[in-house]
Amino acid sequence: MNVTVFGSGYVGLVQAAVLAEVGHNILCIDIDEKKVEDLKKGIIPIYEPGLSPLIERNLKNRTLNFSTDASQGVEHGEVIFIAVGTPPDEDGSADLRHVLAVAESIAIYMSETKVIVNKSTVPVGTADLVSRAIADRLATRNAEDIPFEVVSNPEFLKEGSAVSDCMRPDRIIIGTRSTSAENALRQLYAPFNRNHEKIITMDVRSAELAKYAANCMLATKISFMNEMAQIADHVGADIEQVRQGIGSDPRIGYQFIYAGIGYGGSCFPKDVKALISTATQMGVSPGILNAVEERNQTQKSYLLQKITEHFGEDLKGKTFALWGLAFKPNTDDMREAPSRTLMEQLWQLGAKVQAFDPQAMEECQRIYGVREDMQLCGTKEVALSGADALIIATEWQQFKAIDAKAVIKALTNPVIFDGRNLYEPQHMAESGMDYYCVGRPKV
Ligand code: NAD
Repeated sequence: MNVTVFGSGYVGLVQAAVLAEVGHNILCIDIDEKKVEDLKKGIIPIYEPGLSPLIERNLKNRTLNFSTDASQGVEHGEVIFIAVGTPPDEDGSADLRHVLAVAESIAIYMSETKVIVNKSTVPVGTADLVSRAIADRLATRNAEDIPFEVVSNPEFLKEGSAVSDCMRPDRIIIGTRSTSAENALRQLYAPFNRNHEKIITMDVRSAELAKYAANCMLATKISFMNEMAQIADHVGADIEQVRQGIGSDPRIGYQFIYAGIGYGGSCFPKDVKALISTATQMGVSPGILNAVEERNQTQKSYLLQKITEHFGEDLKGKTFALWGLAFKPNTDDMREAPSRTLMEQLWQLGAKVQAFDPQAMEECQRIYGVREDMQLCGTKEVALSGADALIIATEWQQFKAIDAKAVIKALTNPVIFDGRNLYEPQHMAESGMDYYCVGRPKV
């Protein structure tokens, strides 16, 4: 099928590459000229495992093309995806500016029937809003007879495993009451729906809410465990034992119940805030969501609390090695990453940071520029050199096995503040390390 994807970010680019890989003919439109020029040359603006060979192969086959020309995009696709950003507005609600800009382009240029698919995460009612915007604009061109459908097809990929998530989705939600639109999407997704039925159809508003409900449920699990970890710290229990104890109950399960220093990224924080905003506007009190958000904010400062309890409030002259900048492993994304809160708090108290991340160094440089109190180091070992303590903010695989003796030798004080509970407190104590983590008693 001929498909156009508006937006070449984490969602649009991966979706486009995967659809091209199974044989569809894809044109990606983005307003970022530099990004489009780079993509045409096979230079990929994000780190996502497995993405690069897919793009290279499909660029070569000409099944994947990039452009900034919206009119070309609208003409090309019988199915048109909207996969642009929906960042939080000042009041936490989703900013639909980019979604509506794409709707406007579609209405200006469409000359025949189109299925318009909303992949961006958008508040309930957005498909209706987009439909109205397109219909109104078509009317100004006396083109109100051109038929179109706006479908909700939320995306559930996870950064870090986005390609495999799109290649082997758990479920494909299609929100529409239109049989022709549903059939078009069934045809589009048929290559991903062969093993067993993954397509779930529903009305458009339920599909829109399902996406928020999924992310808010996951954020709730994380905040719940973080609250348990703080309680464990105060009562002398071990959150790791608690995790095993409750995860073994199949009604609870082991997934998403690790304590840490809070969730980040481009989705959970903004989606929790956006659903709070929707609920509040509708007169529903989002008590649980407010608590999830509040716990996450306090959790992001939890490690700093332990650092100042150990070193005191004045950190002038202190240098901290920081392992992990990305909001989670296998990505270079630092949007709302706990590492950022931590670094900014350390700087405020006068400390310096020597940071290492396997993928997010360029992104960190882009965000913070050149600063005297931030040194980006080429390896995790260089980051340790002469630092007063080691802080761990992201659970990258390469941090999981630690040479405690080498770390002690490199640091001026043998102290680790581990925001991801990577090591056994007993083993750390035996190595002579002063080891602080989240919700586990100090040995
Ligand atoms: P992103 O910021 O990485 O990418 C958005 C892209 O859209 C950018 O390249 C931007 O230049 C482009 N854009 C903006 N306006 C445009 C326009 N008018 N025409 C064409 N392109 C335009 O965003 P993302 O992370 O890919 O997220 C996109 C949407 O998908 C958001 O609503 C997000 O909540 C949702 N989502 C994200 C993830 C994720 O893990 N990142 C997962 C599921 C859903």
